Amino acid sequence: MLETIQETMRVVIAEDSGPSRLALERTLAKWGYEVISCKDGNAAWEALQQDDSPRLAILDWMMPGYSGPEIVRMVRAQAEERKAAYTYILLLTSKNERADLIEGLEAGADDYITKPFDQQELRVRLRTGMRILNLQAELVAAREALREQAMRDALTGLWNRRSIIEILIREQSRSTRESAPVGVLMMDIDHFKRVNDTHGHLAGDDVLKEVARRLLASVRPYDGVGRYGGEEFIIVLPGCDEASIQSRGEAMRAAISDDPVLAQGLSLKVSASFGATVFVPPNGVETAELIRAADDALYEAKRNGRNCLVYRHASSTVAS
Ligand SMILES: [Mg+2]
Repeated sequence: MLETIQETMRVVIAEDSGPSRLALERTLAKWGYEVISCKDGNAAWEALQQDDSPRLAILDWMMPGYSGPEIVRMVRAQAEERKAAYTYILLLTSKNERADLIEGLEAGADDYITKPFDQQELRVRLRTGMRILNLQAELVAAREALREQAMRDALTGLWNRRSIIEILIREQSRSTRESAPVGVLMMDIDHFKRVNDTHGHLAGDDVLKEVARRLLASVRPYDGVGRYGGEEFIIVLPGCDEASIQSRGEAMRAAISDDPVLAQGLSLKVSASFGATVFVPPNGVETAELIRAADDALYEAKRNGRNCLVYRHASSTVAS
């Protein structure tokens, strides 16, 4: 794994001495690195400011333009600001500069190598750098996975209750800034308890997963679909007004009831009831009122015989 990444690894080198730069270029290319070669500090800083900058750099200490330690300081400050991936930096020093080494390491360099460099030593030090970069990438990936996990409903993969509420709150404030409506659907699978009681919880889980899949298939990438509770879902549709929230909801209702759902080898007839409402700035209501309006509409849909959609103005619940 390490070798594979190392082979495709890009590295910035900055060295004003021609022979030394050439030796570095050749050695690194031989080891499979893609080398971005710079003759001075300014070119190196330029190369390290790009969004897809290499994460590995070998910088000479003394060179025209920025010095090695100056670049290290700037790279660290930039990473802090951009929350960018870590750059592993080796400083190149001559023997007579070794006394200043502490300064370079204090500036944030990870390691150093003295000139003229020894190939085996350089190789070992680069491996250390790769190991640290790989560990860092793994940590970032693990942190992202945990963050994602905390926001998702484990069974359906949809947003969980907390996340979908956060999405709704965010869309409401965006909607207020942009003077555009936000449509909200509250949806509940009809007679879901019967599925569980008659066919077991595994069949119930299959129904939930398939309904979630059909909902996702009928929304746009920027719509939010969340599992609100057991068999209850919320769908947040930015930009939808009263007419479009009803037609979008109708399409979802049809997507769920038109074809039977396959659950534990059984073909089950499934339907869902929908409550719809719209947040309209600048007179929009609070998130809780909005959800209550959609919920009231949903219960009316249940009372009306299920497998249907009822719309309700969010403001109408304020008085009641
Ligand atoms: Mg130099």
